Amino acid sequence: MVIKISKRKNNHKNNTPKEINSLTKSSLKKNTVKIIDKDYRNSNETNEELTERIKKIVNILSSIFTLRVFEDRDPYRVLIRTILSQRTRDENTDKASATLFTKYKNIEEIANAQIEDIEELVKSAGFYRVKARRIIEVSGLLIDKYDKIVPNNLNELLELPGVGRKTANCVLVYGFQKPAIPVDTHVHRISNLWGIINTKTPEESEEELEKIVPKNLWIDLNDLMVQFGQNICKPGHMQCETCPISNLCCYFSSV
Ligand code: SF4
Repeated sequence: MVIKISKRKNNHKNNTPKEINSLTKSSLKKNTVKIIDKDYRNSNETNEELTERIKKIVNILSSIFTLRVFEDRDPYRVLIRTILSQRTRDENTDKASATLFTKYKNIEEIANAQIEDIEELVKSAGFYRVKARRIIEVSGLLIDKYDKIVPNNLNELLELPGVGRKTANCVLVYGFQKPAIPVDTHVHRISNLWGIINTKTPEESEEELEKIVPKNLWIDLNDLMVQFGQNICKPGHMQCETCPISNLCCYFSSV
């Protein structure tokens, strides 16, 4: 496959890495919202060039990161894990999820558990009272309305208590291996920095990304971007000087 890199002026060509880094750091003293509150898109880039740039980025990220294999791809466990993952770090989610499923083996046991017990088990995930209540509610509803089977479509998933678009899309991707784009803070922030979209909310980002990212790349996109956001393009600590895709990033060209 021939990849055409979009022609853009690289304003960094005369900067040393140190200068680039300090420039980036000083920019980052503003909060992340301000950084992505700009339109970094290249108005001269055609749709074809944009698509090729996205493919090139995903190719590079795929060569750097191994897609994470979650131990359990059971849709119910993915759903519960994703509820636990809201506003916390992966390690806290892993711990809470493992503790919960060590004691309670299936949906009925969780639906019938004492809320105080679930709270205690998922404490490490933070917001444990809300999360415990949601976990019990969603489990009960799945038993009552869906015969204990997690729905495999967005609309029905969104009807479940506490399930928003990100969680629903995570269940589709990680539980059912269906193409969807879960947009978390990493995906929203980074795709705006790349200048492939210009959006204000994760919901808008999801809509715009679905228009421009080739569908065969959807399933891997969240995983790759989350790992990229955790390791290289970190919020507040972007490692632009060593970033493997800096020549494809519109933010990098703009600072
Ligand atoms: S993608 Fe790379 S170059 Fe662009 S902002 Fe993130 S770390 Fe910097």
